[in-house]
Amino acid sequence: MIPKVRPKSERKKVLELYLAKKHLKSTKQRDIIFDEFFNHPGQHITVEELYEKVKKQYPKIGYATIYRTLKLFKECGLAFERNFGDGKTRYEPVKFEGEHHDHMICVGCGRIIEFENQRIEYYSREVARLNGFEVLNHKLELYGYCGSCREKKKEGANNL
Ligand SMILES: [Zn+2]
Ligand SMILES: [Zn+2]
Repeated sequence: MIPKVRPKSERKKVLELYLAKKHLKSTKQRDIIFDEFFNHPGQHITVEELYEKVKKQYPKIGYATIYRTLKLFKECGLAFERNFGDGKTRYEPVKFEGEHHDHMICVGCGRIIEFENQRIEYYSREVARLNGFEVLNHKLELYGYCGSCREKKKEGANNL
């Protein structure tokens, strides 16, 4: 069974509990960032990109606020932090508690494709077990060319 995507109200509750624990107040700025970030699941957004988006509705927002807020989402388990080797840190909403997925990254156009494969999950646990290793976490990133970049490469080769 595929768990349901966490509704926004539930995410808000997780965040509020975390803020209360840390003795932080909720702020209007944080609410705006929250809405913008969680309204677009499936994106892998950088601090810069989110800053550009939020600035359109709330020009007074500071870059550091966006940065700190994304860190906060990560700390309370609402966001994943990702690094795909381009020197940029990206964030994406966690769809449900305990969610896990891996990524394919196109080096041609930068497209990020998510995938999940039960056999990969199974064999990585198996490899760990055979080595007496306890896995806490894993990430798998495949780098290469996506379907449309491969098409373009083929066309390019044909035009030579
Ligand atoms: Zn591509
Ligand atoms: Zn992802």
